[in-house]
Amino acid sequence: MAYHYDDQNIFAKILRGEIPNDTVLETDHTLAFRDIEPQAPVHVLVIPKGAYVSYDHFAAEASDAEIVDYTRAIAKICAQEGVSIDANEGYRIISNAGAHGVQEVPHLHLHILGGRRMGRMVQPAK
Ligand code: AMP
Repeated sequence: MAYHYDDQNIFAKILRGEIPNDTVLETDHTLAFRDIEPQAPVHVLVIPKGAYVSYDHFAAEASDAEIVDYTRAIAKICAQEGVSIDANEGYRIISNAGAHGVQEVPHLHLHILGGRRMGRMVQPAK
């Protein structure tokens, strides 16, 4: 299976420093920044620095070092943002992929949402 990655997507531009972002955490392989249109008091996007279009692309082709770095970054962000279930009421992680996932930006990102109750997981299709 060949994944297609469009390097003109907005998160690729953020990674190249062409567009500013509100960084929450940066590690060797991962960047996390605040969503420009937050849907909750905490709304952080977590992206790998590598050119991966979706979670399944990343899971299939990223190196072990990238996967570990990305996963550990999520724990750091949850702690930093005060939404870890260790310390608070929890959060929701979403990763939209492709047309059925209604993905807008074709570079893998996890949404970490918290700071309020999120409601039902899946809304009626629009
Ligand atoms: P998705 O529908 O999962 O692809 O979500 C894309 C997300 O990226 C949306 O929540 C947008 O608000 C967010 N977004 C788009 N452009 C930017 C940007 N320049 N900085 C931060 N977040 C952005």
